[in-house]
Amino acid sequence: MTYHFKCTLCGAEYASNAVRYVCPQHGDEGILDTILDYQTIAATTSPQKISDSRDFSIWRYAPLLPISDAHKFAPPLAVGWTPLYRSTTLGANLGLSNLFFKDDGRNPTASFKDRASTFVVAKARELGVQIITTASTGNAGAALAGAAAAAKMPAVIFVPETAPQAKIAQLLIFGSRVILVKGNYDQAVALCLAASKEFGWYCRNTAYNPYTVEGKKTASFEIVEQLGWQAPDSIFVSVGDGNIISGLWKGLRDLRTLGWIAKMPKLFGIQAEGSAACYNAWQAGTEKIEMVNAVTVADSISADIPLDGVRAVRAVRETGGAYLTVSDAEILAAIPELARGEAIFAEPAASTAYAGLKKAVAQGLVKSDERVVVMLTGNGLKDIASAMKVAGAGTVIEPTLEAVRALKF
Ligand SMILES: *Cc1c(COP(=O)(O)O)cnc(C)c1O
Repeated sequence: MTYHFKCTLCGAEYASNAVRYVCPQHGDEGILDTILDYQTIAATTSPQKISDSRDFSIWRYAPLLPISDAHKFAPPLAVGWTPLYRSTTLGANLGLSNLFFKDDGRNPTASFKDRASTFVVAKARELGVQIITTASTGNAGAALAGAAAAAKMPAVIFVPETAPQAKIAQLLIFGSRVILVKGNYDQAVALCLAASKEFGWYCRNTAYNPYTVEGKKTASFEIVEQLGWQAPDSIFVSVGDGNIISGLWKGLRDLRTLGWIAKMPKLFGIQAEGSAACYNAWQAGTEKIEMVNAVTVADSISADIPLDGVRAVRAVRETGGAYLTVSDAEILAAIPELARGEAIFAEPAASTAYAGLKKAVAQGLVKSDERVVVMLTGNGLKDIASAMKVAGAGTVIEPTLEAVRALKF
């Protein structure tokens, strides 16, 4: 499948084999969009053909992905095609009659990041590279470690030393080389980039590698296909680096360009109050992202300078959505609500999207009959320390029936 790159800052276009990561005119910040050959796609495939596929993974969308031979290069790991549940409880509580939750915690390493990491590993195989590396708050690294294990490719992962233990366990268990950086995510990103340049490793860093967004866009394809090839009215998603929301937007733009959806959903980006760089830029009506000093319980969306900030602000502005912020208390409170209402256990960075929906409803930003999708991006088992703050406590008793009888039910 032929494709080329276009710089998101200056619009310069490049052949796909002319640059590897970013537009050479802007240092490391010229994030590249991938422009597909839409005419060929329209001529060779269709929503019906895709729906007939027996491949229940992101690779059912191979004709819409920038890779030559997905079958040959895809790591043998079932990523994507996660369930889209119609709300059973929380929608009614909020007065929404068409609310859906997409549970991306169902991916092999339990987060949305599997979509990007598995696609980038496929590209790494296509390019014939030897070693792959990434910086991560934990999930992107866990996803890369898993995909690299599936592909038998050595991986070097840079994470903040403070990443949740479960995420570090994932990195270690898949056999990656794990570098625990005494610093924050932004410092891990800078270090990974410098090391990849020095040692010639293939760098998966979010947004810097143009294929992360191409893997992530498959979530939009799934949402639309799961709704019978119809776009929802709005999608709520948490935002840290802004690469997921950019990926969702890219997938929707691909479908819009192909004429497979009639309209663009509004994208709502939800940030933690303590890590709100995209929200701030959106509020200020600018694309200039100012650095913040990120502090939030939702470690996966803690970013001083979002790596995909410009596109993330555009995604919301151009679709007529909004940015909202939620407090750490609201993020934590949303975890048991989702678990008890919809039986989905979300990590803090995922429950953030639902906390944001509640705020949007309270502000009158969502109509009662709108079709709304909340993207739940990571599984709650990744951060049990946070979950235990809001889970309540079990009842400790002597091992006797009397002790059970003495309890109130
Ligand atoms: C990475 C991540 C996000 C945010 O994605 P960005 O591309 O950084 O905006 C949200 N939730 C979870 C669980 C994540 O791992």
